Amino acid sequence: GRTVGELPDRQATYGKILYKKEFLDDGVLTLYKAPRSFTGENVAEICCHGGVLLTEKVLESALLCGAVPAGAGDFSKRAFLNGKITLSEAEAVIDLINAESEVQLRIAGENSTGALGRRVQEIYEALCRLLASMYAFTDYPDEDLTDLSPKELGAELLNIRKKLENLTAGYRQGHAVMEGLKTVIVGRPNTGKSSLLNGILGKDRAIVSPVAGTTRDTVEEKVRLGGQMLRLCDTAGIRDARDSVEKIGVDRAVAAAERASLSLVVLDGSVPLTGTEERIFALAQQAEHSLLLVNKSDLPRQAELAGLADRFDGVCFVCARTGEGVEQIGRLVQALYPQAVRTDGALLTNTRQAEAVGRALAAVDRAQGALSAALTPDAILTDAEEALAALGELTGKSIREDLVATIFSRFCVGK
Ligand code: GDP
Repeated sequence: GRTVGELPDRQATYGKILYKKEFLDDGVLTLYKAPRSFTGENVAEICCHGGVLLTEKVLESALLCGAVPAGAGDFSKRAFLNGKITLSEAEAVIDLINAESEVQLRIAGENSTGALGRRVQEIYEALCRLLASMYAFTDYPDEDLTDLSPKELGAELLNIRKKLENLTAGYRQGHAVMEGLKTVIVGRPNTGKSSLLNGILGKDRAIVSPVAGTTRDTVEEKVRLGGQMLRLCDTAGIRDARDSVEKIGVDRAVAAAERASLSLVVLDGSVPLTGTEERIFALAQQAEHSLLLVNKSDLPRQAELAGLADRFDGVCFVCARTGEGVEQIGRLVQALYPQAVRTDGALLTNTRQAEAVGRALAAVDRAQGALSAALTPDAILTDAEEALAALGELTGKSIREDLVATIFSRFCVGK
């Protein structure tokens, strides 16, 4: 008996879904009146019973009444355009949807509630204040306004620079976490690398899908371990070298290890060391962190391990055959990485953000240069303005329309 507009705001109302008086289904309607909705617009959500045909009929009748299907990222884009969320928050929503590990979820969650936005905003405002006081002085020379002294200006620029640098420093971590930690498994032939890889993959059912790596012939398996998403690099190069230890130095294996965040060195604990392990250890140490996995713990130990532990970030005894010790690898990974990820969560996670901060940093550098070369305020102003514009791109304050379209096209339909 009531029109939708008369229903209470932000309350679920039960009713019948009719189209031209024809009964389709019964369901629940929730109304979010502008501006108190995600997009900032009037929103009505209809929940009906499941089932393909039924849902389709309800949807079809909504379309016949004038509704238009949402495109990719339409909701988030409208929220952004209506000033409900900043661009970095919108991007965090994409990361949230795509998150596959606890850490990814945490960073995206913090960014989506504006942690990154607040850090950027702080720098943005500092730059604004700086520009405002410089403009006041240059535009109203007669008003007896006190100019910032070059010393004060220099201190302020330095302060801004430091904050920008902090943001950039977080990018490598943020990016690595969001993309998955690149991990290589290395070891002599027959130590059990393949078995262990299978063990790790089999233990955790969170395998997403094998994705083609950036290098030809390299296939990566994504697996969740120790709260992290690992991109286990099953380097064909290292694998093919199984018939000869000498070949372990193949360029591809070296390159893979160099790019890796983590290397897992597999050692066969049931045979004495051969003396050729050194090259593998050296290779593994190219990665940021390395763990030593002593395999075949079901067999009597023959390998002499004294002095080895110090050279790795952790040692773990495993049995690839039974899967014993895989949890322990997870715990070691967990111990290695939380400290690497900052707890305030405000991390740059994508290249677009990092590039914008990089430009802001370069512009601040030029402003500092202009200041120390005692150039006219105009020169400093231009640079400071460029820095401001670059930061504005990060939050979406000043951003080209085509860029907005590109960003929101990353969403799936209806998000
Ligand atoms: P890769 O050459 O390093 O990839 O080693 P593989 O995974 O192919 O394993 C080599 C051999 O070691 C195979 O015969 C495996 O069955 C055996 N193996 C692997 N892990 C274990 C283990 O934990 N215990 C025992 N007893 N044998 C293992």
